[in-house]
Amino acid sequence: MRVLVPVKRVVDYNVKVRPKADGSGPEVDNLKMSINPFCEIAVEEAIRLKEKGIVEEIVAVTVGPQQAQEQLRTALALGADRAILVLTEIFVEPLGVAKCLKELCLSEKPDLILLGKQAIDGDNNQTGQMLGALTGFPQGTFASELTVEGNSAIVKREVDGGLQTVSLELPAIVTSDLRLNEPRYASLPNIMKAKRKPLVTVTSEELGVDVSPRTELLNVKLPPKRKAGMLVRDVKDLVDKLKNEAKVI
Ligand code: AMP
Repeated sequence: MRVLVPVKRVVDYNVKVRPKADGSGPEVDNLKMSINPFCEIAVEEAIRLKEKGIVEEIVAVTVGPQQAQEQLRTALALGADRAILVLTEIFVEPLGVAKCLKELCLSEKPDLILLGKQAIDGDNNQTGQMLGALTGFPQGTFASELTVEGNSAIVKREVDGGLQTVSLELPAIVTSDLRLNEPRYASLPNIMKAKRKPLVTVTSEELGVDVSPRTELLNVKLPPKRKAGMLVRDVKDLVDKLKNEAKVI
């Protein structure tokens, strides 16, 4: 069984991102970049399936610039077997990414495509679903548990107020939620070994995909600063302030 794991290069989750001075976009130059945390969870899940003897090959893929090779090398160090960089110098929207992934699904014929539920930069939560629409493969989104039995993937999904269990016929698409697992760290020997694992580059043009954006970013700004809070003496004081100052009751 082969698993395709799309991973996205994003600004590290510990970094506080600010808008550029002219508001034309977020300032990302010289910031620490990492694998999107939900994609790390997807890689970990693929590795666990391989450790159980269910999966034979894990292929990590990213759509991004040359530098995104760093995140592919990280995925290889964690346990992916080989990697594919779909090279493009523009910032690709979820539809463009999904179209590239669809082409790779046709050539690589994965049994399972394990994505993150969302990328923490754009917070889109769209790529897995769009890939489902383009390929016609069944999808289990927001997975907190995944079991592969024969030709089916059983996915426990995190839905409002509880868990929903669905059974998908392979090939299928699964997007990982936070509770699916706790990703491991790459060991130094594995980081060294990852340098020798195969990583091929194709361009979006070679895949025959038009990745040009469908939306235009008009402006990026920080939310307005919140007013400082205040301490109230007692419940009476609180009710008084809510009534006469905030005028909310
Ligand atoms: P999004 O729909 O942008 O919130 O991203 C959801 C998931 O789609 C991510 O966690 C990745 O698994 C995958 N994905 C999104 N963008 C890319 C990209 N440029 N390259 C590879 N995978 C991506």
